[in-house]
Amino acid sequence: MIDISTDIKFLPGVGPKKAELLGNEAGIFTYEDLLYYFPYKYVDRSKFYSVRELNPNMPYVQVKGRLTSMKTVGAGRQARLTATFSDGTGTMELVWFKGHKYIKENLDASSEYIVFGKPSLFNGMINIVHPEMEKVDPTKSVIRSGLQAFYNTTEKMKKGYLNSRGMLKLMQNLFKLLQRDKIPETMPAELTTKLKLIHLNDALRAAHFPENHKQLEAAQFRLKFEELFYLQLNILRLMNLRKRSVKGHVFKVVGDNLNTFYKNNIPFELTGAQKRVIREIRQDMGSGKQMNRLLQGDVGSGKTLVALMVMLIAVDNSYQATLMAPTEILANQHFETISEMLKGLSVSIDLLTGSTKKSKRDELHARLQSGELNILIGTHALIEDTVKFHNLGLVIIDEQHRFGVAQRARLWKKNLHPPHVLVMTATPIPRTLAMTVYGDLDVSIIDELPPGRKPIKTVHYFHNRRNNLNRFLRSELEKGRQIYVVYPLIEESEKMDFKNLAEGFEYMQKAFPEYQTTMVHGKMRPAEKDDAMQEFVSGRSQILVSTTVIEVGVNVPNASVMVIESAERFGLSQLHQLRGRVGRGADQSFCILMTDYKMSEETRKRMSIMTQTTDGFEIAEADMKLRGPGDLEGTQQSGLPFSLHIASLSRDSQLLQYARKIAEDVLAGDPLLEKPENIMLKKQVARLTAKKMNWSMIS
Ligand code: ADP
Ligand code: MG
Repeated sequence: MIDISTDIKFLPGVGPKKAELLGNEAGIFTYEDLLYYFPYKYVDRSKFYSVRELNPNMPYVQVKGRLTSMKTVGAGRQARLTATFSDGTGTMELVWFKGHKYIKENLDASSEYIVFGKPSLFNGMINIVHPEMEKVDPTKSVIRSGLQAFYNTTEKMKKGYLNSRGMLKLMQNLFKLLQRDKIPETMPAELTTKLKLIHLNDALRAAHFPENHKQLEAAQFRLKFEELFYLQLNILRLMNLRKRSVKGHVFKVVGDNLNTFYKNNIPFELTGAQKRVIREIRQDMGSGKQMNRLLQGDVGSGKTLVALMVMLIAVDNSYQATLMAPTEILANQHFETISEMLKGLSVSIDLLTGSTKKSKRDELHARLQSGELNILIGTHALIEDTVKFHNLGLVIIDEQHRFGVAQRARLWKKNLHPPHVLVMTATPIPRTLAMTVYGDLDVSIIDELPPGRKPIKTVHYFHNRRNNLNRFLRSELEKGRQIYVVYPLIEESEKMDFKNLAEGFEYMQKAFPEYQTTMVHGKMRPAEKDDAMQEFVSGRSQILVSTTVIEVGVNVPNASVMVIESAERFGLSQLHQLRGRVGRGADQSFCILMTDYKMSEETRKRMSIMTQTTDGFEIAEADMKLRGPGDLEGTQQSGLPFSLHIASLSRDSQLLQYARKIAEDVLAGDPLLEKPENIMLKKQVARLTAKKMNWSMIS
């Protein structure tokens, strides 16, 4: 019986050098790791082409024929080997730039070959560079069937003879060893039967050496399902475990503050969606269980008001509440709006950020510890160890996607008894990602914008339309509206970007001398930044030229135009966030995306999605498709706390939902996987958790 946890260096054909490469470059340390290193594509090798039909647009092809001549062209480093190859229907050229001495010596002009590679056109002739050559052995009838696997490899691997072909060779060696032993099944028989999953052993073999498409599909289905199933099973089991073991503060009082606020202070009627999520949250916080809830709502859907009312519930139940925002600008703004809305109520509220002075800080800490302070709003500064609460009952994290998992965990630990946690995010993430990254949280969704909002009109301009743009901006300014102009600021080209920003600022000042233009960027001191922001918020300045520091949360309902310069440098969700800064009042708002005339295909797609929809969920889905989930920009969790080997959160969303459903069914009868019949599931979950899925408690 072969132990698949054997060190990869013992595999025939590997040895210490390749073992090191495999480990460092591809994370392959054992036989098992290699088994789960899946191909990224398959090429059909059941079909032969004739040389005559080849054209340079074809992907990989194979032809059968003979070498008719061979010669070395050039000398030294420039030298290459070219051979003419014919199959009776036509002639093409085969070219080798590397290793040609060896190849020349080993090619045999008298035998028939199967040549495999990607055709291209050179000097009017079809050629294949570095083809794969296989001698046809007349003594064996070679029936080529099946799909050839292709593996991703890095430059370093390629240099160490581990290109796709090299990997395939290793795979062959491994499966030779596994010929007699079956890889043990990892799913219970009950499930494989019920769900018609093929045996793990067959699935792994077919994933690397499929005979046909049908077999490959069955293999992929089995392997993807298993991956997603265990992922969900683990998340859901942890959630059950937490719900059972952690008791929550019971907020059962509907008290004075909330009532007074609702009667006298609330600035507008709540939307139906706001009412619904407040109800869901209230139920949760009154249940005796500790709440861990995700509040999702598109930009401008009114999450702040929900946060405020939920904090009042905590205060009415004699607990403290805290609201953490990702930037100082946003924390300041929350503090201002919330203080304003709480006027006349006997709720004490304060602000703690990185720039809070020491003396103020000391005094604030004292009031916090004595319990005199009810609500604390702030930035990361809140999670410092010196910040201690009297009795923290509720933590709200705004724009959750900007924080890491660890930061959430630290707030959770702020109390002996964990507080209720509400995380809010305006970057709508695709359902499948939410199910996974936030898979152990309950979810509330605000799916309705406050009434009277007009959808933002989005247009895409090239730089040559700047005069039109200015005319339009002037007409908006004349109506009394305000304007954002945003420039990208990305680390590597920081200096250049700053120059663009500063020039943009001067340009706007010159173009609109009768209006006030203000500039904000990340390198300003917090107080400066705040003053500049305040200029714009108060309406003293009409044009704000800034970097993306205003990306999240900033709320100036009178601003009706968002101009995004060099829009090609922003990802979709960032563009959506920026656009969300306008359209917050009743006026028609506009977003203008400025780019160069020259654009990549991807940029073109992004611009077209932005002009076609304002629906954040649709944009998030499109974003995930364009960039892949591992790279959801602006999302700290983009570094998913686990890695998927074969399934894809964007492509396999239906399968993910199915897998989650099956996992739920299993857990419905056995929430913690304690029953003997589920022992295999439990073992497998534990094994996977230990191995690769390093997700700690998310909240
Ligand atoms: P986000 O969900 O992006 O955080 P905000 O909480 O900043 O959104 O709200 C966006 C704007 O909508 C703010 O100006 C806020 O005052 C306003 N708003 C919130 N709820 C309502 C409502 N029910 N009716 C009208 N306007 C609302
Ligand atoms: Mg907000």
